[in-house]
Amino acid sequence: MAQLDVRQKLEILADAAKYDASCASSGTAKRNSADGKGIGSTEGMGICHAYAPDGRCISLLKILLTNSCIFDCHYCINRKSSNVRRARFTAQEVVNLTLSFYRRNYIEGLFLSSGIIKSSNYTMEQLVEVARSLREDHHFRGYIHLKTIPDADPELVHQAGLYADRVSINVELPTVGGLKRLAPEKDNARIEGAMGEIKAAIIDTAEARTKYRSAPRFAPAGQSTQMIVGADAATDGDIVTKASTLYDRFGLRRVYYSAFSPIPDASSVLPLQRPPLMREHRLYQSDWLMRFYGFQPREVVAATDDATGMLPLDIDPKLAWALKFRDQFPVDVNRAPRELLWRVPGLGTKAVKSILAARRWRRLRLDDVARLTVSIARIRPFIVAEDWRPVTLTDRAELKPLVAPRPARQQLELFGA
Ligand code: SF4
Repeated sequence: MAQLDVRQKLEILADAAKYDASCASSGTAKRNSADGKGIGSTEGMGICHAYAPDGRCISLLKILLTNSCIFDCHYCINRKSSNVRRARFTAQEVVNLTLSFYRRNYIEGLFLSSGIIKSSNYTMEQLVEVARSLREDHHFRGYIHLKTIPDADPELVHQAGLYADRVSINVELPTVGGLKRLAPEKDNARIEGAMGEIKAAIIDTAEARTKYRSAPRFAPAGQSTQMIVGADAATDGDIVTKASTLYDRFGLRRVYYSAFSPIPDASSVLPLQRPPLMREHRLYQSDWLMRFYGFQPREVVAATDDATGMLPLDIDPKLAWALKFRDQFPVDVNRAPRELLWRVPGLGTKAVKSILAARRWRRLRLDDVARLTVSIARIRPFIVAEDWRPVTLTDRAELKPLVAPRPARQQLELFGA
């Protein structure tokens, strides 16, 4: 590996980390100068934004310890056979970088992942050492998210959880067959075993802290994972089912979906094109339906196309479900329980909360609902109000153009209303 200075390593290892979606990421041109290199510039330096457990948006230094790896996962730009420029930080360099960025107010925390150097345990020891040194030697109180390494000794993973706010391990692919084919050195059972141990440690330490305030904390921001979308033949139905299983079995805080992006010198087993980004967006919306709108996984799966198993790209999954199960509508905004109101396309959780509060005092008319939504025209066919009852819904093909947003408009409005 060529001798590189810290800045050169940072350029390589921040860029290499961008493929991990496990913390919401966006580049920043904040405090940038014309050439991107002036004092205070953060351009291209791996600063991403993530949401802390308390809902704050925080800036994180998002880097890899190294982009060298002894594994050869087909979809990964850092795999052993990839022809990329390699770099490696020492643990001390990552500590110094984190502290210097933190002191300059660029970041509030660190997201650290790594390729596998020598062995899983050796790599995990380096990651733990970064977190240990930050916490114990420098009393760093910022946010730390550590990626755990597949097959690392459970004791090392446990230590990671004692120093980090969040730990995560990527399941990578939604099906066991897909993982075997594209990441043959990884094993689904071992990945899920590690998730199970993290879950148990989170529960044990949370219980201990209810009795003894001095009991150590373990990953107080929980664990998360990432699935790659579109690298294998898994359908959206497969992905939704896998995500819901992971939430149920391991109590994950988040499942992240990352649309596969073609990489240089890609293996021939990979597709040549990335899936539409909208597919990733629809999966996040379906995830939202399960976590915040009371949808069962099977209901989200039922919103997929019967022939392809895919969610429609032109409308959001909640609208797709409503169009497919129209016998569930119209919903009376003056009488329906919260769970049924959540099902109405175009009514977000905030709007439903306002409806429930307002109807304690008076019966709601269509205009009242209109004030809480972006487009009452799109909601009308699905609700009953004091002065409104829709004509019997027309068949799906006739209804869809009335309620689907025009192509230029963002589907997110249907959730954000
Ligand atoms: S183990 Fe991680 S870094 Fe290594 S090739 Fe696989 S996905 Fe890439």
